[in-house]
Amino acid sequence: MSRFVLALDQGTTSSRALLFDREGAVVATEQHEFTQSFPQSGWVEHDPEEIWESQLRAARGVLERAQVTAADLAALGVTNQRETAIVWERETGKPIHPAIVWQSRQTAGLCQGLRDRGLEEDIRARTGLVIDSYFSGPKIRFILDAVEGAQARAEAGELCFGTVDSWLLYKLTNGRVHATEYSNASRTLLFNIHEKTWDDVLLGYLNLPRAILPEVRDSSGDFGLTAAQWLGGEVPITGMAGDQQSALFGQGCFETGMAKNTYGTGCFLLMNTGDRPAISDSGLLTTIAWGIGGRVEYALEGSVFVAGAAIQWLRDGLGLIANAAESEAAAHRVAETDGVYLVPAFTGLGAPYWDEEARGVMVGLNRGTTQDHVIRAGLESIAYSSRDVVDCMVTDAGLSLEALRVDGGACENDFLMQFQADMLGCVVERPSVLEVTALGAAALAGLAVGFWTDRSHLEQARGGRTRFEPRLKASERDRLYAGWQQAVARSRGTLAGS
Ligand code: ADP
Repeated sequence: MSRFVLALDQGTTSSRALLFDREGAVVATEQHEFTQSFPQSGWVEHDPEEIWESQLRAARGVLERAQVTAADLAALGVTNQRETAIVWERETGKPIHPAIVWQSRQTAGLCQGLRDRGLEEDIRARTGLVIDSYFSGPKIRFILDAVEGAQARAEAGELCFGTVDSWLLYKLTNGRVHATEYSNASRTLLFNIHEKTWDDVLLGYLNLPRAILPEVRDSSGDFGLTAAQWLGGEVPITGMAGDQQSALFGQGCFETGMAKNTYGTGCFLLMNTGDRPAISDSGLLTTIAWGIGGRVEYALEGSVFVAGAAIQWLRDGLGLIANAAESEAAAHRVAETDGVYLVPAFTGLGAPYWDEEARGVMVGLNRGTTQDHVIRAGLESIAYSSRDVVDCMVTDAGLSLEALRVDGGACENDFLMQFQADMLGCVVERPSVLEVTALGAAALAGLAVGFWTDRSHLEQARGGRTRFEPRLKASERDRLYAGWQQAVARSRGTLAGS
């Protein structure tokens, strides 16, 4: 009997493979890093073959480590760095260009061209996205322009485009399947999230032929079998989702109004808005969470540019701490920041301010300010910035937030989580198993084959939750948050300018 589900977690810097048992416990993991190329300032590329090889090595490695064979696997699920674009030959599987990574700015000019044509509003209405180099469509255009003859070959159906999920699926099935699923499709700027199809108008804006696109399938369902040569036997591929959506699923945010925040270098917040694609007035993205059983669910997505990175700056820029974890004890050494606010707007401000010109500030210093106050202010800034985004979500979705589920490196900081609960005035829940992104892909795959029969079975997998209850009085919360908003105003130079 099959005892495990294998999850492939193809990230921006490494390829990981994780083996989950029926209780949802992680039995073994394996990880391989791969090369980041920076051919010009602001450009980021990956070698698609290296992505595949590192992912295959991780998958084989984890099976070997756990002494497991393909016959022991009920299913395989894939989660991936989103938006990264790959174009390859349909016949041979050979990429015609390096993968253009989501972070890469090489399509900034193409994006500006779309804006200059006045297409922003129409594109937003159809895709839920803003025109930005992050998204895949302009990256495909870039590749077809960069490689001689590629446009004609694409039109003749000789080329395939895929985000990393499609690429891995194509490789795993030995070229038999060229498909993606709703969450990844919704990040391309080519997918109409209301009609749930590739949109000819959008394709027209970028002069991309439909023949290059993968078929869009449910996120949980049949994607074909792995070719026997890769894992020593055929394994059904039955789950795929982009990393943030996979984390939302892995966190069990199945109901409308449930949200998760991933605290890494930046923060990624997603709120499930159910059958309704909520349109944001504050610049948040509307995206597809997943499609299951023919039913598509939506999410609102917002991010904080600088979160854990602020703590890295306290460590490396100021040398106030030796490692990120030390920040917790420092924050506890003082009862409050005593009026100090740090706004780490190092690269401008995102939602709801959208100010590229803003820069970091520290305000409220007095003669008694110590480094512990500053460190505490750094941690608090992560919670304030997250509240900024949550407030937008709640308003834009017209939903109230019951609880915020958290993951990512910085969520291990209890001080930060308690302050987050205090600042939101709602419960923050941290699962004891933090591999929620991979768990999401495993869950999508395992549910499709009946390995798990019910989503609630996965609750166990998250291993119970630590709950942080809000303790702060509303008046105190409002006072502190008002101070944050004033500090943000200063980072934007509104005081200097007024
Ligand atoms: P990413 O996936 O973006 O690389 P991770 O999820 O690995 O990020 O989290 C690492 C980030 O979290 C770093 O920016 C680090 O400064 C921050 N971090 C890690 N542990 C803590 C901690 N205990 N307290 C505060 N910040 C932390």
